[in-house]
Amino acid sequence: MEHKEDKLKEVISHAKEYGFVFPSSEIYDGLAATYDYGQLGSELKNNIKSYWWKSMVQMHENIVGIDSAIFMHPTTWKASGHVDAFNDPLIDNKDSKKRYRADVLIEEFIEKIRMKIEKEVEKGIKKFGDDFDETQFRATHPNVLRNKEKINEIEDRMRETLGKNDLEGVYNLIVDLEIACPISGTKNWTEVRQFNLMFSTELGSVAGDASTIYLRPETAQGIFVNFLNVQKSGRMKIPFGIAQIGKAFRNEIVARQFIFRMREFEQMEMQFFVRPGEEMKWYEYWKEARSNWHKALGLGDHNYRFHDHIKLAHYANAAADIEFNFPMGFKELEGIHSRTDYDLKQHEQFSGKKLQYFDPELNQNYVPFVVETSVGLDRMFLAVLSASHKNEVLEDGSERTVLTLPPALAPYKVAIMPLTKKDGLPEKAREIIDQLKFDFLCQYDEKDSIGKRYRRQDAIGTPFSVTVDHQTLEDHTVTIRDRDTMDQVRVNVADLFSIIDQKVNMRKLLV
Ligand code: ATP
Repeated sequence: MEHKEDKLKEVISHAKEYGFVFPSSEIYDGLAATYDYGQLGSELKNNIKSYWWKSMVQMHENIVGIDSAIFMHPTTWKASGHVDAFNDPLIDNKDSKKRYRADVLIEEFIEKIRMKIEKEVEKGIKKFGDDFDETQFRATHPNVLRNKEKINEIEDRMRETLGKNDLEGVYNLIVDLEIACPISGTKNWTEVRQFNLMFSTELGSVAGDASTIYLRPETAQGIFVNFLNVQKSGRMKIPFGIAQIGKAFRNEIVARQFIFRMREFEQMEMQFFVRPGEEMKWYEYWKEARSNWHKALGLGDHNYRFHDHIKLAHYANAAADIEFNFPMGFKELEGIHSRTDYDLKQHEQFSGKKLQYFDPELNQNYVPFVVETSVGLDRMFLAVLSASHKNEVLEDGSERTVLTLPPALAPYKVAIMPLTKKDGLPEKAREIIDQLKFDFLCQYDEKDSIGKRYRRQDAIGTPFSVTVDHQTLEDHTVTIRDRDTMDQVRVNVADLFSIIDQKVNMRKLLV
């Protein structure tokens, strides 16, 4: 099996070589954890956005979308709790001078124990073969039980210390677990401190506290402050949702792992407003709906798992992550949170305005409860790209690198290639593009041998390549090649639209 770090490196260099993702301001040696999306990356990103927007807004008559400003009134962030509580506990290693999130160090330690359990189970499978009863093994094997208990103990202490903001307790836990710095290998730690993740800046020309504003750390608050505007102007009836795609900013302590954790990133969030008391039903509903949305892409169901939060955010009464099997292992891709009526109530209190809904069926006013789904667009991008990136050995022993992107998300849907640069073939190829370009992003390619051109299209995930040859001029037929099967068939030019559309249309993902 390929080493995980190598896999991530390979994906990063592939992304750069083919114009998906570049380090930002690279001519100045880049800016830490900031990336630019290139010509193919922005297409892929737009397609992911479109898949999300269509599935949320277009497929639900009770969900509408908005686009609120990044800057918001500073009181927003006092009300939401971000000024006081949007902190990460940080700790430095005195020898390597590296900074870590204390909770992440502990979680990584727990993950290592989990791996031990999995190894034990694998050993069991090897030893007992078909007779292996995994459930019983997990419930009874002494090593598994001991490790499970260890995990529970650590999680309990973590929940307790973090929950009470007991930073000394968090420090003691790290010391007790004998966690060492992965760089220096030493346990020479500083104390644990809190660090606010919001970026602040000054509004206008007046300096001083009164003019300090923040770059939004989440898009959700733009939805909450517009709750009543949308409800009234759209005549929305509960339950209903408001969706938004937009940039968010967090001064992450440790930003790394490519586009997984950035300081400027994009979120796709939806707040679903429900009757108080019905939130758990909707929480379960959205957990399932969002999981299905991911799985419909065909990246492999085994690559997803749910992780229920131990440490609930200050606003939530239930929360789960959908984790994806990234090259670095299973990590959070999306969060589904039951946020109660916390945000709207806080905004009522700080603004002095009523943010309530009159429920005609109950004949009563109330502050709705909220279930949120929040997925990082950049993490979606990394999930799609890394799961699609494959090195294949073909039957004839040759190799190819292919991106088996879900066709609906692929940047180019079809490449049109004249066999030679003469005899009117380029003109014919462009004629075909002129017919298809209203529906699909097409690429024209006439350079190098057909074989090389196929490889180039494989490497950027184009689902179809169409070759125009001399026969095309006589009978209006072309060769169409499928990226995944590499099968080539001769078809009529007039049939191209429906052949391509059938495979790349987003409709297939949405039903
Ligand atoms: P993490 O625990 O990884 O820091 P989080 O729990 O703080 O994430 P949320 O506040 O729930 O994240 O944000 C919702 C989604 O936004 C996450 O599931 C993730 O996909 C995305 N996201 C959050 N922070 C970042 C970041 N720094 N870079 C890229 N995407 C991010």
